[in-house]
Amino acid sequence: MKYFTVGPVEMDKETLELAGKQLPYFRNDEFSKVMLENENKIKEIVNAKAEDRVIFLTGSGTSAMDAVVGHCSSGEHAIVINGGSFGKRFCELCSFYNVDHEIINVGLEENLTLQHFENVDLDAADILLVNMHETSCGKLYDMQMIGELCKKHNIKLVVDAISSFLADPIDMEDMNIDCLITSSHKALGLEPGLAIIVMKEKFIKENVMKKNSHNYYLDLKSHLTNMNRGQTPFTPAISVCLGLNEKLKRINANEKISKTKELADYFRKKINYNYPSYNLSNALTPLYFDDKNAKNIYHKLLDKGICLNPCGGELADIMLRVSHIGNLSKSDYDNLIFILEEVSK
Ligand SMILES: *Cc1c(COP(=O)(O)O)cnc(C)c1O
Repeated sequence: MKYFTVGPVEMDKETLELAGKQLPYFRNDEFSKVMLENENKIKEIVNAKAEDRVIFLTGSGTSAMDAVVGHCSSGEHAIVINGGSFGKRFCELCSFYNVDHEIINVGLEENLTLQHFENVDLDAADILLVNMHETSCGKLYDMQMIGELCKKHNIKLVVDAISSFLADPIDMEDMNIDCLITSSHKALGLEPGLAIIVMKEKFIKENVMKKNSHNYYLDLKSHLTNMNRGQTPFTPAISVCLGLNEKLKRINANEKISKTKELADYFRKKINYNYPSYNLSNALTPLYFDDKNAKNIYHKLLDKGICLNPCGGELADIMLRVSHIGNLSKSDYDNLIFILEEVSK
């Protein structure tokens, strides 16, 4: 099966080889060294500063979203950008933790622009939650614009960059990001199980340290203390931590992002299907199936050994997503386009 999915993705042979090995014991200096290296590499990739902190949670990406919103208090006023199922998840988390929040809905066909903020009292907001790339429909938000707004109105910016990390350029300084979330099984191409949070001092001071989380397992204070020496409070997903270390040492992030963009451009130029006109992430191309036969095509492709990423909800019949992250090449797209034409006849 060839996976054009957003996660898990086609994995590298190096990652696969590592996964079959005996796991080492981890409460020692050797493993701490691996984790501190992971921290430094992640910081380098997102242009975090030396004093910024990284913590590793064992859980899927949502565990990090949960941990972060769990550190917002009901006294804080949040703005949530909701352009699909991952935006909705932030809304649900805010409701779950009783965080007072205002939702900016972004319609399927539109980009997020300054106009969306016109009737929002930005000076009353403490925190803004956004998914840099709304993976459910492939939409990439203008992080420069959001970052500038947040800076101007003194709002802490929390970014779920789970599907943009290593696919789209991210610069925490440039984009004024206070807290950034990513995870292991999207462009990092590892197994699911590791969520990563990069935090600036302001977020640590005003959210992590000041407010008790409503969670025991996801309280970030003990994670921060433990990461001072490269450890986690509980047993981490050791194999994923080792895979992360191998991957981060092997790849160059900028090259990886350029290659992903190149594949996305190549595919979009060649494909005979319509795709949305809103800003797209390099991570995937959503294709429209105007005959509402997306599910049917999905199953026909599966029979041919190709797995695209189906959509949920109201997009299920009209859209399939083609990933550009993972170990894929131009010839994989040539093959996909050929077979897609065959099955849609
Ligand atoms: C994949 C993804 C998540 C996390 O989903 P999990 O199922 O918990 O791994 C969160 N946000 C975005 C934008 C994603 O693409």
